[in-house]
Amino acid sequence: MPARLDLGPQPRLGYIASAIDRVAGSRGDDAVLKKYCEHALAGSYLIGGELIVLRPAGTSYEPLFSPVQARALGAVREVVFLGLLGDAPRFGFGLDPAAVEQLKACYDLKIADLRSIAVHGMVSEEHLPPLAEAKALLGWHARHRFCSNCGAPTKTAQGGWRRDCPSCGVEHFPRTDPVVIMLAISGERCVLGRSRRFAPTMWSCLAGFAEPGETIEEAVRREVLEEAGIACGRVSYFASQPWPFPSSIMIGCHAEALSDTLVVDREELEDARWFDREELASMLKQQHPQGLTTPPPVAIAHHIIRNFVENGNDVFH
Ligand SMILES: [Zn+2]
Repeated sequence: MPARLDLGPQPRLGYIASAIDRVAGSRGDDAVLKKYCEHALAGSYLIGGELIVLRPAGTSYEPLFSPVQARALGAVREVVFLGLLGDAPRFGFGLDPAAVEQLKACYDLKIADLRSIAVHGMVSEEHLPPLAEAKALLGWHARHRFCSNCGAPTKTAQGGWRRDCPSCGVEHFPRTDPVVIMLAISGERCVLGRSRRFAPTMWSCLAGFAEPGETIEEAVRREVLEEAGIACGRVSYFASQPWPFPSSIMIGCHAEALSDTLVVDREELEDARWFDREELASMLKQQHPQGLTTPPPVAIAHHIIRNFVENGNDVFH
């Protein structure tokens, strides 16, 4: 295997590079938010739990509705202000998931989950970051209606970027859960694992939540040791990705494996094994003799694996 291997044009990672300016300074001004909502260019994404409401548009789908169109489709539980795309205000409207299920019967609408929308390219790419922003934020509202300090019902504030408790006065902010996702590497080989919920041919990076009191590097080493029994030394940050399922940020890393013998945690994983760069290249090119695959380019795991295939140990910097 050469030190460097070119797999061709770099596919785009999903949910990143938002063109929306969040204009956080406007969130606290109700008059400005009202003006934005009534703006001729205002557009809203309609989300109910895991489901997104789309409209067929030619060979693709359109995810934006005017606020008036959006309200005609069902009772809106929550409105969050996403920001401005140029002069055009963008909102997320949270609907009751059961009401969105019923919209599946409408011939002029298409209801789909965000994973399918991203993997199958059902909407143009610029919609993925605001859909991720809206889904994560609306999901947080749906799960945090009561104060975690005193138990009283809380109220939306700051255009949906805060919930305030009228009883004890505590302000609650949307949470983002950090997940480390990593490739443990030893020379020309690395470790991939399989979760039971994966498609039968798919192998991916190991991953897990960072815990309180841990650095990213410590979380990477702990997760690889727990899931695969491999001790790791150097950890190199690669890239990150918002992952709104429900509200994570994926922190992608490469880690230097210090041992060879795998001890697989069968509670967490169906299996884990070593793959060399050549086998990984055939998986990325979808030419593996047994049809084994990696996650699609929309997911950061694809890029973490590809970076190792292309650059070998130069991933450590
Ligand atoms: Zn409270």
